[in-house]
Amino acid sequence: MTRHHKVLHNATVIDGTGAKRYRASVCIDSDRITDIVQHDTAMPVLEADQVIDASGLVLAPGFIDAHTHDDLLLLKSPDMLPKASQGVTTVVTGNCGISLAPMQSRKIVPPFDLIGDDSDFAYPSLSQYAERLDDTPASLNSVMLTGHSTLRLETMDRLDRAASRAEIATMAHRLEKSLKEGACGMSTGLAYPTASHAPTTEIIELATVLRDFGAVYTSHMRDEEDHLLDAVEETLQIGREADVPVVISHHKACGRHNWGKTRQSVAMIEQARATQRVDLDVYPYTASSTVLLAEFVARSEKVMITWSKSQPDCSGRDLADLATEWDLTIGDAIDKLNPAGAIYHQMDDEDLHRVMQYAPSMIGSDGLPKDERPHPRLWGTFPRVLGHYCRELGLFTLEDAVAKMTGKTASVFGIKQRGTISVGNYADLVMFNADTIIDRATYDHPTETSAGIEMVMVNGDIVYGGSQTTDARPGRFIRH
Ligand SMILES: [Zn+2]
Repeated sequence: MTRHHKVLHNATVIDGTGAKRYRASVCIDSDRITDIVQHDTAMPVLEADQVIDASGLVLAPGFIDAHTHDDLLLLKSPDMLPKASQGVTTVVTGNCGISLAPMQSRKIVPPFDLIGDDSDFAYPSLSQYAERLDDTPASLNSVMLTGHSTLRLETMDRLDRAASRAEIATMAHRLEKSLKEGACGMSTGLAYPTASHAPTTEIIELATVLRDFGAVYTSHMRDEEDHLLDAVEETLQIGREADVPVVISHHKACGRHNWGKTRQSVAMIEQARATQRVDLDVYPYTASSTVLLAEFVARSEKVMITWSKSQPDCSGRDLADLATEWDLTIGDAIDKLNPAGAIYHQMDDEDLHRVMQYAPSMIGSDGLPKDERPHPRLWGTFPRVLGHYCRELGLFTLEDAVAKMTGKTASVFGIKQRGTISVGNYADLVMFNADTIIDRATYDHPTETSAGIEMVMVNGDIVYGGSQTTDARPGRFIRH
């Protein structure tokens, strides 16, 4: 009999494909799943150096966070506690147009301050960033998108205009180099001042570079408010004309008078899926979070400050309260706080439920690890989907919920041999209690770990167990 390295014994396996759960023992040798022994008849006898009892627990592929801003967190806090404690084993970085690489150290502008300070942008090429992670790995794996705003800031003298022909050629060259070095796609953040002046044609020309690499185009769209449907149409057009798969980031409808619009946006996506590849990610909250901008405040019911460079003691404070206290208009209070970040309560439950329930949607946290008082999505997203939206509200089966955070995501981003439990795949796994799993991070206490995550394994090594991270740093930068 083969003696295995590790056996996860008597687990309820949910394999990440959406297929029905089954009972099995899963064998791991080195960094791979080497055998899956189903318990359809008698309990098998398996020899192993380490047997982990998984009785009564779900064993799923480690969660893949489809939408993160963890570019710097992987380097600065390699235990990755906010994500490891949720069962995440791989993060997709470089979202919303702002990737840490490729960029020389320079004076950054918002929203780059969401992911780092001036001196943090020290990786002139993607390979230099990747090599840094090879040398000093984190506990979790990552794949990286190249940010369109990153390319613009590197190439253009000012960002409040369209790129010239020569600048587009330079950006296309830099993007191609990043893709050769392992980037999995390009992201845009067209709602931000760093990219809002880029016309659709600029994006199409750059997105065309992705085609030969089988890479994806992801977009924090130009508008998630009054012009949401136009923005969806623009994203679909970019996908069609560049002939590349598109991912609509953190899909939502912001502002009370736009509530209900996801009924139309989801219908547009569904119709487009007949002829082109379109996917989307979503986070399980009705508040968003980003830099403090007057136009986002105008669409919100309530705004909480997450950080402020000029008024550091205002983290966690309500913007309206601060304006009253200072005897200022909201606009002047915003000026006094900036540069700053905020949480915007501006979505409706019904839209959120609709997008989460929509079969193609993937789960992405969009967490902001640099914020002093982060949105709770940074710590709570995945257990919240499984505990609140699946178990308590019954929006979908547990099998479907797991697929939205594993197999589906791996397939959209082209992450090979991960995201499903099958023999030969990497041993990225999470063991959780389906009856107790729940997020504990709240707007008032945003950095609480979740309940019910029993064990998290990356490339065959345990990175989280007994409510804490281990010293293992088996994470890899996965080159596309
Ligand atoms: Zn975004």
